[in-house]
Amino acid sequence: MLTKTKLRDVLTQIDKMFPNAHCELNHSTPLELVIAVVLSAQCTDVLVNKVTPGLFSKYPKLEDYLEAPLENIEEAIRKIGLFRNKAKFIKQLTEMIAHDFGGNVPSTMEDLIKLPGVGRKTANVVLSVCFGVPAIAVDTHVERVSKRLQICPKNASVLEVEKTLMKKVPKQDWSKTHHLLIFFGRYHCKAQNPNCTECPFADFCKEGNQRLKAVKA
Ligand code: SF4
Repeated sequence: MLTKTKLRDVLTQIDKMFPNAHCELNHSTPLELVIAVVLSAQCTDVLVNKVTPGLFSKYPKLEDYLEAPLENIEEAIRKIGLFRNKAKFIKQLTEMIAHDFGGNVPSTMEDLIKLPGVGRKTANVVLSVCFGVPAIAVDTHVERVSKRLQICPKNASVLEVEKTLMKKVPKQDWSKTHHLLIFFGRYHCKAQNPNCTECPFADFCKEGNQRLKAVKA
């Protein structure tokens, strides 16, 4: 497995490749980000960003979701996969924010994960991006890259990936690391077609070596 020192070098290199790594889900309030992350489950950020301008302008305030019939929210997000479930989550989580959290998106992991449709990943994104709390959200890119780069074992659970990254990366760098690994996974070490031929980590990446050998064979 990658040592802390080696991981620091890897992250420095990724930072050079993607100096502008950031949250790509468009939002202007914590509520909008919670909703955008809920919508992004099994769906690309690009598609979410196509749908949210209409949704957010139709429902600019928390109260607007409370008053809206479920079918109208479904209609506003119907281009997104699993839109019926996601509309239900939006309705339920806005009701909980209004009734249990005084109308404000909570700012702790403990409370965020009480919201319907919100798990650790969403909570970590919101904590880090909206509230400046150091956090590493493990999505599909972070998980894949962490395993390919041997930051953690291939059979590690999502929670184990998160814990390993938190152990190996200094706390002040957690949030940035999350964005760096997402950008590296989204734009370079893609799931189906990673760019191993132009990868600075091909010398030690087992997966990359296997793929490069297969290309030469
Ligand atoms: S060598 Fe290939 S699989 Fe390995 S990290 Fe680079 S792009 Fe990803």
